[in-house]
Amino acid sequence: MTHIYLDYAATTPVDDRVVATMQPYYNITFGNPSSIHHFGQQSELALENARETLAKNINALPSEIVFTSSGSESDNLALRGIALAARQKKIGNHLLISPIEHPAVSQTADQLAKLHGFKVSYLPVDRYGVVTASAVLSTLRDDTILVSVMGANNEVGTINPISEIGQVCQDNAVPFHTDAVQYAAHQSFDVNELKVDLLSMGAHKFYGPKGVGALYIRSGLDILPILTGGSQEFGLRAATQNVPLIVGMAEAFQMVQDEGTSRRDHVLLLRDQIINYVLKEIPASQLTGHPQERLPNHASFVFEGADGNTLIQVLDAAGFACSSGSACKTGDPKPSSALIQLGYEPSWALGSLRVTLGKNSSKDEVMKFLEVLPGCVEKVRGLTN
Ligand SMILES: *Cc1c(COP(=O)(O)O)cnc(C)c1O
Repeated sequence: MTHIYLDYAATTPVDDRVVATMQPYYNITFGNPSSIHHFGQQSELALENARETLAKNINALPSEIVFTSSGSESDNLALRGIALAARQKKIGNHLLISPIEHPAVSQTADQLAKLHGFKVSYLPVDRYGVVTASAVLSTLRDDTILVSVMGANNEVGTINPISEIGQVCQDNAVPFHTDAVQYAAHQSFDVNELKVDLLSMGAHKFYGPKGVGALYIRSGLDILPILTGGSQEFGLRAATQNVPLIVGMAEAFQMVQDEGTSRRDHVLLLRDQIINYVLKEIPASQLTGHPQERLPNHASFVFEGADGNTLIQVLDAAGFACSSGSACKTGDPKPSSALIQLGYEPSWALGSLRVTLGKNSSKDEVMKFLEVLPGCVEKVRGLTN
């Protein structure tokens, strides 16, 4: 049976050209970039070229890019690193985040609250999950040390008005972090236009390797390392850098800049085909997330009275790999907390489906998927009730 992959928001295959670029850094240019000798220098050159590539494409300085092990680690470094520095300087105690952040942000904020006595407030969102700049302005406090609002939501695909939120934070001199792990996979951006102070990325969402990410940190910001040891990454992230993965990330990121527009046009057409078909053909279905301000490859739905996890299994058995949108596993009948936050009743929120497309997705794959989807939803509704 052929299996069709429709879960590009979970991860993407590494581009063949990226694999080829990474290869020599495993066994030929393998030196430790911190070593003084020739082998070390060659690796350091590759590392610094990769840093330069990322920096120039987002209008940052190379010294403002810290390589990490993942999007999750970048989020952790942003929140915990800023919180620790604020604690050291005794300048404030309050974090402001959206209520539908990725767990890498929300769980970190949670731990800072539970273990370290920070206060966390949650920004109001509308039914689509949008955070407005005025909501940030009215929720900011004198003791706020960080605002964190994701660029685009992984579950419902909604894109936030980052530069407007950034403006409010800048006006109030509060550092602003955005989790751009989904966002950065689909468009070019400039950190000064976005007015962000910290921005997280992860390579495996844009055809780069898993296990590598980056955090943009505006120079002059007070931040402490959360992984302590050697002085790698400007003293902000100890550990010998994973040069092959970092080189691969830079190559994949460059391709987003070069090929982003054509990739976008390709997936947008297929995405709208899915959305239009589902809303027309499947009764008691709704699109989740913003109808326009959403990721170009992202279609997400709720189906009333259909268990989402069962639907994923039924679709998988039919040869289609989709997601319920969050990382929740089968056997856990809890609806996604994001969908509950957005105001969906549990009878709807339990029936979530996320279909995300990629540069390898074809019209034929989408047609085949749409042929089976209504029947699968019907079947699952029969099993659920
Ligand atoms: C995937 C994802 C992450 C986590 O990135 P990893 O590199 O898998 O750790 C964080 N935030 C968002 C929005 C994501 O989609």
